[in-house]
Amino acid sequence: MKIIAYLIAAFLGILGFIFLIGFQGQIFRLIIGLVLLIAAGAVVYLARLQPKTTQTTTIQKIDLSGDVNLEEIRCRSCNAPLSKDEIEVRAGAIFVQCGHCGATYQFEEEPKW
Ligand SMILES: [Zn+2]
Repeated sequence: MKIIAYLIAAFLGILGFIFLIGFQGQIFRLIIGLVLLIAAGAVVYLARLQPKTTQTTTIQKIDLSGDVNLEEIRCRSCNAPLSKDEIEVRAGAIFVQCGHCGATYQFEEEPKW
């Protein structure tokens, strides 16, 4: 789904760019071009904001609502405490994407249940 969002964003961006190139003194073309570029940026932003599918979210709730204390999970790169939003469950493994230093890695601590 993320790839599709990026393809849409690329399409909107290119279209917006074409309008800006073909501007030729016509304000409405400039506005359309800018709107398309902003829309492309918004699609990328949303794709990055919510990369999880509904299924992944359900699995994540099951895996992390139990005995795992999220407050004890810290980024192994910068040692910043990680929030639930920064932890993603993919293919049964826990992945960490640190919002502080941007490090992405598989969480390897032993499950406590
Ligand atoms: Zn970090």
